[in-house]
Amino acid sequence: MMRNYQSANFQYQTLIHHQHADLIMNFPKACWSTTCFPEMYHFLQVRQPSVLETTCFNDENLTFSEEVKQTEMGHLFEHLVIDQLCQLKAKTDDAEFEGCTEWNWWKYPIGSFKVTININHQDQKYLDHALRTSEQLIEDLYAHLPPKSSPKGAFVSS
Ligand SMILES: [Zn+2]
Repeated sequence: MMRNYQSANFQYQTLIHHQHADLIMNFPKACWSTTCFPEMYHFLQVRQPSVLETTCFNDENLTFSEEVKQTEMGHLFEHLVIDQLCQLKAKTDDAEFEGCTEWNWWKYPIGSFKVTININHQDQKYLDHALRTSEQLIEDLYAHLPPKSSPKGAFVSS
């Protein structure tokens, strides 16, 4: 299973490995940050409030509901997918997933990300649905809240 997605708003390729999946993503240079969508917090509260409760490990020890107000779009996508995976698996089993988002805009274009989701072979059956649902949410975000401003904050290579 290998899902690739491309629209005017964002693109990604999926690379499936035995214990993890990598998403090689690209968001437009002008809207790589959640700060481009000032109403996004409210949008998530309405559309997928559970994502605001997901655990996040970041340098400032912010909860994800704080972090999401100013973070990279790839990082938001990571949390959306993980939240979806948890919801799907939790119907039948204990569910916990981890991921991380990396970017290096010295080497790769601004707005590109590598999102890694730790997911074993058995659980990969949930991935396609989780990706499709997350894609649709981002597309709806663009449709309902067209990005208005440029990203805030300096980008940091990591
Ligand atoms: Zn996080």
